[in-house]
Formats: sequence, structure tokens, C-alpha cells
Amino acid sequence: MPDPTRHTRALVLFSGGQDSTTCLAHALARFEQVETIGFDYGQRHRVELEARLTVLRELRAQFPAWAAKLGEDHVLDLAVLGAVSETSLTRDMAFRMEASGLPNTFVPGRNLLFLTLAAALAYRRGLTVLVTGVCETDFSGYPDCRDDTMKAMQLALSLGMDQRFLIDTPLMWIDKADTWRLAHELGGDRLEALIVEHTHTCYLGDREHRHAWGWGCGDCPACQLRARGWAGYRAAPGSNAVRPGH
Ligand code: ZN
Repeated sequence: MPDPTRHTRALVLFSGGQDSTTCLAHALARFEQVETIGFDYGQRHRVELEARLTVLRELRAQFPAWAAKLGEDHVLDLAVLGAVSETSLTRDMAFRMEASGLPNTFVPGRNLLFLTLAAALAYRRGLTVLVTGVCETDFSGYPDCRDDTMKAMQLALSLGMDQRFLIDTPLMWIDKADTWRLAHELGGDRLEALIVEHTHTCYLGDREHRHAWGWGCGDCPACQLRARGWAGYRAAPGSNAVRPGH
């Protein structure tokens, strides 16, 4: 058995988007063994689940050193989430901001559920690090993505499973421009091009319109955020990408 106190084996919460792909590259650069987990909860657009597989395939093909560390991919069926959500991700409703300041895509506590399931799977697989692309810096006010929530989850999961988990959040304090910079720092032009071409962010599932920053409608909040980050990155590609401390 690997020594669990060394934290060398990681499970990455991987959706096939820009953020989680950058997190996956971070994990592959940092840890000895890396597996991935995704959740199928009736996304309106299967394109997200397809993007996961494409990104994994391209990473293996283009980064042989990482391919050697990249183990199994797991997808869990979370159709139950559809039963407790009324959002534009799972129903035919338009994306909008609620009076609370949260987008109506918000499923209360969704990320807590994801982390709990990821930890249960990680426990079974002998993985002690959970890597997730949550971020406090961007527009979303998702309370289940905040740093304090992650610290509380790390403690709760470690106590509740009697297994020391580390929740690694490489994007917590950086913005979308810095996320592009981090990807470039990790994998150079090749990783940047892979993320542009193969990751999926658009809420509308648009894979028809190609922009400098990738595929998407260009209008939904996810596309706008990605486009703004790209513009900031291209304006100053080498600006101080602060690698988060650990
Ligand atoms: Zn879009």
C-alpha cells in the first residue's frame, strides 16, 4: 500500500472544461498517479461528457510523460440531481441571475455532493488528494466553491472516513487570465492549443462557432468569462501568473 501521508496519488474532479483540464495538467505535473472522476447528471448537452473523453485522449497522445501517470477515468451517474434542481443546466430554462445574486444554474450544495462522492471513490482507489477547479475570484458566488467550504470539507471528509484527505485547489485565488497562464506554464503552447480546441465551457453546448478562445455561442456568461480571460491573457501572456502556494 502507498503511504497515505505522502499524498502522491490524486483524483481530479474533471468536467472537460477549461478549469478542470488545467487542474488535471497541474495534477499530472505534481503527483505520481492521477485518476479522474466526472458526473453525469442529465446535462442538457452531452457535449460536456464527450469533451471529457476527447481531452483525456488528446492529453495521452500529446503528453507521453503524463500519459504514464494518468490512470482510470470514472463517471458516476447522478441523475438524482435532476430531481432536486430547477436550473438551466437540467431543464429547458434560460440562464438568468436570481435576486440572490446567484445564477439559476446553482444547485444548492452540489459541489459538496461531488466532493463526498469523489472522496468515497478515492478511498476505494487508494487516492488521498482531491483536485478541484473551484475558484473564489470569478463572478460566481457559489458558496460551495469557497475556500472556507473546501477547508471544512477536507476536515469533514478526513474525519468521516478516518482517512487523511487533501483538497488541492490550484485555481482558488487566480482569475481566468491567470488560469490560461497557468496552463501555458504547465504544458506550453501544446496544452494551450489543446484547451482552446477541445475543452468545453459554453452553457448552450455550442460547438459551431469557433473563436480565438475556443468553441461556444460567445454570448452566455460562461463564454463571456472565458473570452474575457483569454483577452486578458493575450494582452499580457507573461504577466505574473501566481502559482498558488501549497
Ligand atoms: Zn456560450
